[in-house]
Amino acid sequence: MSPAWTGLLAELAQWHDQGAVAELWWRDDDAGKLTPALARLLGLSQVARIPLALAAVPMDLEACIAHADNPLVTVLQHGVDHHNRAAPGAKKTEFSSDEAVESALQRLQLGRTRLEQIAPGRVLPVLVPPWNRVSSPELLRRLAGAGYWALSRFGPRGTVADGSGLRHLNTHVDIIEWRGSRGFAGEKTVLAQAVAHLQARRLGHADALEPTGFLTHHAVHDAAAWSFLQTLFEHTADLSYVRWVQPEV
Ligand SMILES: [Zn+2]
Repeated sequence: MSPAWTGLLAELAQWHDQGAVAELWWRDDDAGKLTPALARLLGLSQVARIPLALAAVPMDLEACIAHADNPLVTVLQHGVDHHNRAAPGAKKTEFSSDEAVESALQRLQLGRTRLEQIAPGRVLPVLVPPWNRVSSPELLRRLAGAGYWALSRFGPRGTVADGSGLRHLNTHVDIIEWRGSRGFAGEKTVLAQAVAHLQARRLGHADALEPTGFLTHHAVHDAAAWSFLQTLFEHTADLSYVRWVQPEV
């Protein structure tokens, strides 16, 4: 076993020594059409018996997802159409402050209705904003009133309120190297992110109750990314002091 895996297992063993259970969760982004990669992802969750939170783009999602016969799959709302509406030069966002809030809320509602039609009973009231960003403070304040319970972005949830009043269920480990190969970021890099968040939780430097989230993007997985996930699940699925959880809302 490589030092990177030994490092993760050693960190998890520390949780065990402290009588604690390390909660982990898995979010996969950009679900739309039932491509071979999405089918493979759904199959992996089923075979490994690991809960999968699919961040689905409502306007892209196909009806066949409802037939994915896996009770471990939940659906989160990944924006509405995943189009960038940021002003030129600004950070990418579907929810820019240039868009009227009423219009954004209307789009969100349409998107949510569509998701619920396609995947009845599986949609959680969680918004996963594309590019992990809502750039309109007013929209953030209105989300709770529109029926959302939680936001899921990237990075340890802070203690500072963002004005939304929503729970934060973030991810912390991105398995893709976006700035380089746009493929798997490598065991060392990926597992270091996992260990850093677990350690911060254990030592009280981050919210101990926030499950450590693994973020995947099935559409760009190369062979190394698929193999990493399989190994991750094999190493952790049967440990009594590790629990893979569904997003708690
Ligand atoms: Zn996305």
